[in-house]
Amino acid sequence: MAAFDDTAFDHHERVVFCHDRDTGLKAIIAIHSTALGPAAGGTRLWSYANDDDALHDVLRLSQGMSYKNAMAGLKFGGGKAVMLRTPDFEPSAALFERYGEFIDSLNGDYVTAEDVGMSVDYMDKIARTTRYVAGVSRQAGKAGGDPSPKTSFGIFKGIEAAVKFKLGKDGVDGLSVAVQGVGNVGYHLCRFLDEAGAKLVVADMDQARVQQVVAEFGATAVDIDALMAQDVDIIAPCALGAVFNERSIPELKASILAGGANNQLENPEDGQRLHDAGILYAPDYVINGGGIINVACEYYSDATDDEVWERIARIGPRLTDIFEESANSGRPTNVVADEMAREIIAAA
Ligand code: NAD
Repeated sequence: MAAFDDTAFDHHERVVFCHDRDTGLKAIIAIHSTALGPAAGGTRLWSYANDDDALHDVLRLSQGMSYKNAMAGLKFGGGKAVMLRTPDFEPSAALFERYGEFIDSLNGDYVTAEDVGMSVDYMDKIARTTRYVAGVSRQAGKAGGDPSPKTSFGIFKGIEAAVKFKLGKDGVDGLSVAVQGVGNVGYHLCRFLDEAGAKLVVADMDQARVQQVVAEFGATAVDIDALMAQDVDIIAPCALGAVFNERSIPELKASILAGGANNQLENPEDGQRLHDAGILYAPDYVINGGGIINVACEYYSDATDDEVWERIARIGPRLTDIFEESANSGRPTNVVADEMAREIIAAA
């Protein structure tokens, strides 16, 4: 395992390998930067082909969190953890408590929350042995709990900003939006869009989820392979990464790409491809920052639930700044966002 030579290694401050024989816990915590505050980012519970893949993933994701947290205006640096779902993995209370002890031993340099494979219940168990955790069960009127509706609200405000910038319209009423993936984030996004009068086209391999948005929001269901080429105003990827690439970009008919999935560009050059094609791309880690804003408010206990929604709504104007800078400088939006994030971190 070559950590310093890994292509995702980017001057990370610290990488911690956690192992506990009794519970079978294996996890890696990567602290990319604490320049802006504690390195915050969720724990991903995933089955990796090998340890190198796990290390690569956590290095890549933790750097992304530095950028995401900086652009969300948070007092958080960037970090992330992966917990290895080995063949004999047992999600016991003791395992999560032991993991909490590892986090606690970092004295607040790393703050965790949910990511893929985790749940509020697991977070509650981690919270028994450390206070450096968010995304635990929500108390009435306070920030916390499942961040997905908050993430979706930020995406909705981002879509409104993109519509204003690209199409000169106030709101999405009468516009068509294709939503790829109607899980936690996609479902709530459909709800916000439907309330605002948008026409929805959806695809998901989980037919029960598709049927729910068809029944509740009058969405039109299409095959998962047909979604990208839909003749719609906006595409909102809310499932997988790497969906915009050399192969998919020539197919696109939408003029706005704005959704919640992480790492939507297969390669950074795909941002240039979209820019050249005149398609407005809302950088993923800026538009999907609602969840981490919620986590920050919970962690610092500095906002009521109402204030959290207000802070998330600022994702709209933040994206407008990026779109304007991109238009003025002739550079793709993903490049502009990365530069803005690096400047914020460097200034700290
Ligand atoms: P989820 O698992 O609840 O939903 C994802 C959905 O996508 C599932 O219903 C799945 O069946 C579907 N899907 C998978 N492959 C597909 C394909 N090829 N075509 C169509 N549908 C497909 O996950 P989620 O929490 O809604 O997260 C969605 C995305 O948003 C992920 O990329 C996640 O990393 C990102 N994200 C989530 C949050 C959050 O608050 N949950 C925050 C930031 C980013």
